Amino acid sequence: MKKILIIGGGPAGATAARFLAENFDVTLIQDKDWDKPCGGGVKSKIFHQFDIPTDTIKHILNTVIIEYKNKKTKIDLQGQNLAIVLRDEFDKTLRNLAEKNGAKLIYGNFKGFEEEKAVIKINNEKILFDYDILIAADGVNSSVRKTLNLAGVPKIITHYARIEEYPVKTCEFFFDRKLGGDYYAWAFPHVNKTHIGGSVGETFDALCEYLNIKVKPKGYFIPTWQENITIQKENIYFVGDAAGQVMPLSFEGIYYAMHSAKILADAIKNNSDYKNEWDKRFLKEFKLMKKLEKAMKKPFLRDLMIKAQNIKKIQSLSVNMWLGKTIL
Ligand SMILES: Cc1cc2nc3c(=O)[nH]c(=O)nc-3n(C[C@H](O)[C@H](O)[C@H](O)COP(=O)(O)OP(=O)(O)OC[C@H]3O[C@@H](n4cnc5c(N)ncnc54)[C@H](O)[C@@H]3O)c2cc1C
Repeated sequence: MKKILIIGGGPAGATAARFLAENFDVTLIQDKDWDKPCGGGVKSKIFHQFDIPTDTIKHILNTVIIEYKNKKTKIDLQGQNLAIVLRDEFDKTLRNLAEKNGAKLIYGNFKGFEEEKAVIKINNEKILFDYDILIAADGVNSSVRKTLNLAGVPKIITHYARIEEYPVKTCEFFFDRKLGGDYYAWAFPHVNKTHIGGSVGETFDALCEYLNIKVKPKGYFIPTWQENITIQKENIYFVGDAAGQVMPLSFEGIYYAMHSAKILADAIKNNSDYKNEWDKRFLKEFKLMKKLEKAMKKPFLRDLMIKAQNIKKIQSLSVNMWLGKTIL
């Protein structure tokens, strides 16, 4: 039976392991149990699509708020809904599902290649793992990419913090450039805390002042998707953040990491071309969102696009593009 070694047990790696374990000998390497810095917002339909236990949902939201030029607009999600998860629990649940399907989960750290094998450090011991296929699902700073001397994933740095001082009932998005920079800033409800994020620098300071909070944020990278990034090199495949598969403009990564992992698993099972299959499913959508992301950097277009959200028909179209029927 073919041996598949997967580096990284986040949403992408755990999902690939889960589906590939149905047909192959799969080993999933995860460096540690960690609570990835994240808003934890995910389209609620993922729970049904991937049959994930719903006790990992901490909030289910049917409205969100966008704030722009001192005006709050409540966006009705029209039953499409957004779920909030805690990443440590959610990721562990996905790894459990992979184990239930037969994947072997090993806690260890990928360190490179030797003698055409992967070097994994487990409790200070260096162990060589043989594989027929290796999947790099090791996130935005992918050490597999670095080891292979491939160009890194294009990325931006974002500030992030977990706070108690600004409780929110639903997701709030701040679109003023002075608060969110070229993109947007956000505050999401969690368990007894609010998670906030935004651009690094003056805009984050302005956000804190606006929310009347004092925090010491940390910076984390998030991929900016590029069409022609390498996602396969011979028998080594990249998926999720390690392939830059984060939706432009919305910066959602969990949903796309999991769907991309399923596309990859199916391509390996069916002996079809991963990039072709991914392009068939997502390329149009990602390209459109990239264009909108670019447009949002122009003050005039940003103004037009955000104000248009007050028009019911346009709001409905945007919600459908984001969460609903016009995509997957
Ligand atoms: C501040 C912030 C907020 C975000 N908010 C949201 C949000 O609200 N909604 C959303 O959809 N997306 C959000 N994202 C993006 C989202 O977190 C990622 O796109 C998503 O986690 C990608 O999943 P992944 O499995 O590809 O990578 P990761 O989740 O990064 O998983 C990679 C895994 O590999 C492991 N690993 C790394 N290196 C090694 C190694 N050498 N050996 C073994 N294991 C290794 C890591 O421990 C990790 O578990 C946010 C990102 C940031 C930075």
